[in-house]
Amino acid sequence: MEAARPRSFTPIVAVTPKTLAAFAESLTGSAIQSGDDAFDAARRVHNARFDRVPTIVVRAANAEDVARTVRLAAATGLELAVRSGGHSLAGHGTSDGGIVLDLSAMKGLLIDPARRLAWAQPGLTAGDVTVAAAEHGLAVPFGDTASVGIGGITTGGGIGFLTRKYGMTIDNVVAAEVVTAQGEILTVDEERHPDLFWAIRGGGGNVGVVTRFVYRLVEAGLVVGGGLALPATPQVLAGLVAAAKAAPDELTTISLVMPAPPAPFIPAERVGELVVMVLGVAVGDVESGLAAWAPIRALAEPVADLVGPMPYPAIYQFTADSEAPGGTSIRSWFADDLDVQDAAEIIDLLGRAPTPVSIAQIRVFGGAMARVAAEDTAFSQRDAGVLIAMMSMFEAGADAGPSDAWTAEAFAAFGDRVTGVYANFLGDEGEDRIRSAYPHGAYESLAAIKRRHDPDNLFRLNQNVRPA
Ligand SMILES: Cc1cc2nc3c(=O)[nH]c(=O)nc-3n(C[C@H](O)[C@H](O)[C@H](O)COP(=O)(O)OP(=O)(O)OC[C@H]3O[C@@H](n4cnc5c(N)ncnc54)[C@H](O)[C@@H]3O)c2cc1C
Repeated sequence: MEAARPRSFTPIVAVTPKTLAAFAESLTGSAIQSGDDAFDAARRVHNARFDRVPTIVVRAANAEDVARTVRLAAATGLELAVRSGGHSLAGHGTSDGGIVLDLSAMKGLLIDPARRLAWAQPGLTAGDVTVAAAEHGLAVPFGDTASVGIGGITTGGGIGFLTRKYGMTIDNVVAAEVVTAQGEILTVDEERHPDLFWAIRGGGGNVGVVTRFVYRLVEAGLVVGGGLALPATPQVLAGLVAAAKAAPDELTTISLVMPAPPAPFIPAERVGELVVMVLGVAVGDVESGLAAWAPIRALAEPVADLVGPMPYPAIYQFTADSEAPGGTSIRSWFADDLDVQDAAEIIDLLGRAPTPVSIAQIRVFGGAMARVAAEDTAFSQRDAGVLIAMMSMFEAGADAGPSDAWTAEAFAAFGDRVTGVYANFLGDEGEDRIRSAYPHGAYESLAAIKRRHDPDNLFRLNQNVRPA
């Protein structure tokens, strides 16, 4: 699944131990190189199929370190991997022979509950910000997993358990500090550098390195959420999608078709049975939350029902298993809907899963996400109905082949119903798939902004949009 990457730089500074030592000396943070004790851990990323060996890992302490590193990449021509939380499904957080710009030490966070704003550096994870904001009954709408970095999820779009009520992560970004390909440190918002502000809201790492986000905080104190395991039949799965679409915006679900795990809440005799694990959050008062869940609960006699009032961050407990590193193969797409026939196809594919942890993930949209105009942010697929992601996990070092073949088979089976794709869920799948992540003119607008701000495509190790 690895596509060729463009390489366009002519080095003007040779990469010698002396150059690297002088560079390391200039940093407030640190530089880690092969031979250093910390190197092996520093080069690794969440998706273990990408086992790469960079020349240097720069652990930036501030925006100035980021700017220095960007200039080093420009001068040497070394490939630059920008990494916040290291969860890129395409392996973009590491590089063979290049520079890893590791932002994980930049964890500054300031929350102003009165103004409902948060200033957050990209080394924070979604879980870090969620837990801190929850002290005030507030939240930033991130995704479903605590360990994902805010740098990658925000610049790529951000969809999670609050999406139907409060929109995507990018819909709650009011400003950012960005280091450009020229090493300039800019503040961007609707008034200042609006083209860059537009591009960092969905365009991934294509136009710069974000060193600080300013988020609008939303209300999410006590929610009605958790997990509901239903028997996996085509009627239940299609019924779930219909019910989740018809639900009030307050309820957002993310469902997993998977074998019932050996957890204390699953009756022993049903462990391993294919279930639809509906994870979800309803914000608002408890009574309306329970009412929002009722039609989903009524779909079938549940295998397990753990839905109830809980503090918003508790939803991350339901996805803690996905934080474990290992190899992942993924193919995902947007579709208008998921009917009984599609559901039967997905269940059939799961019956032939290549590894014990192979899952279909179904997300249902609409609500606040759909009320933003397509042209307002670089993420332009506001009309997406559902997201289907086929994921197959395998042990680090194991053969990715069977998992890749299965996810590819699933994608091929749904080819005629694919309406687009979410850039943050892309593997290394080539240019056509990147283009299909930016429809309605978004690709062309991003390419024009790239030409203005990154004409040499310095920021190319990402879901890359070539400069126009
Ligand atoms: C287990 C798991 C669960 C997930 N769940 C969700 C979910 O619920 N919702 C969702 O929307 N996504 C989800 N994702 C996808 C996730 O949003 C992307 O993989 C995202 O890119 C990860 O961000 P990161 O900072 O951890 O990754 P990294 O690997 O550090 O970064 C990925 C890419 O993002 C860009 N980038 C990162 N930081 C910056 C920055 N500071 N400035 C500019 N560009 C930057 C770069 O191009 C980089 O290559 C999930 C991924 C995993 C592995």
